[in-house]
Amino acid sequence: MTVNHARRRAALAALLDGVEAVLVTWPVNVRYLTGLDSSNAAVLVRADGTAKLATDSRYIERARGLDIEVVEARDVAKELAVPGVGIEAAHMTVAVFQRLDRPVPMEPLVEKVRTVKDDHELELIRTACAISDQAFGDISGNIRPGLTERDVARILEARMIELGADKPAFESIVASGENGAVPHHTPGERQLRRGDLVTLDFGALYQGYHADMTRTVSLGEPADWQRDLYNLVADAQKAGRHALTPGAVTGDVDRAARSIIEAAGHGDDFRHGLGHGVGLEIHEDPFLGPSRTGRLEDRVPITVEPGVYLPGRGGVRIEDTLVTRVDGPELLTKTTKELLVL
Ligand code: ZN
Ligand code: ZN
Repeated sequence: MTVNHARRRAALAALLDGVEAVLVTWPVNVRYLTGLDSSNAAVLVRADGTAKLATDSRYIERARGLDIEVVEARDVAKELAVPGVGIEAAHMTVAVFQRLDRPVPMEPLVEKVRTVKDDHELELIRTACAISDQAFGDISGNIRPGLTERDVARILEARMIELGADKPAFESIVASGENGAVPHHTPGERQLRRGDLVTLDFGALYQGYHADMTRTVSLGEPADWQRDLYNLVADAQKAGRHALTPGAVTGDVDRAARSIIEAAGHGDDFRHGLGHGVGLEIHEDPFLGPSRTGRLEDRVPITVEPGVYLPGRGGVRIEDTLVTRVDGPELLTKTTKELLVL
């Protein structure tokens, strides 16, 4: 499957309003528009759809193989900028900004184009999710009392790489026992114990695209409170998944899941948004949260990840990556959501 970068640039050009060109400097966005993965490149996209790429000597050979006009430069932004050029306000440093002639700060436009994925991108995200599922399935039987959280993270990440991941999509979270009450816990030296719930939040990076999934498992038969908590989060996660339809308001999707957790008296224990887009970045548009007003489009990969966190006791989070579809969301992370008792 080939990638049509020119079509992506045309989609960006169509969004330009009030400027004759936009200078894109954020590496992920340059990659999206040209195919060049580098730490120093910029692309100028003009309103008529024509474009030019600048990069330095380290990347120039690769750049010359792409379907775009290329120029070699060290100061890539200065090289390409025209007077009154639109710039990525969220990304450009003040130092670069000050070297340009009347730059015009703009809203995130490439991010807007990136939200809806093409077939090539969906295939890469599907593969990233399949690797994540497979790795979890392969190592879950090895999760046992005595291992540290760091041990488990290392085993899981090594397996994803063996299965073809570029690397982990982000620093894996393994949170056991009371650490499960910290949504972004960093895996530490705590040893897993019988009676723990263990939350694993992880994903593979595959050809630049991210997977993101979370499962909470039980070491030994869960106590009643643990099973009740698990079932509550699973119910909320299901409601969130079912609310994912093109046209849905992002705040309403969050509400579908959150209202279930609130009704059980745990509203204050679900302290983050319901989900986020995934693609070339692990967290990207759109975001699902209580005050969000945007509408979902078709073909948008997005996570649904409610959690309930009880300080001093533990927590449960369940997360899938899905793709919005007119005929119902496509589930990409297929590991069971029945509570695994290990
Ligand atoms: Zn996650
Ligand atoms: Zn996530």
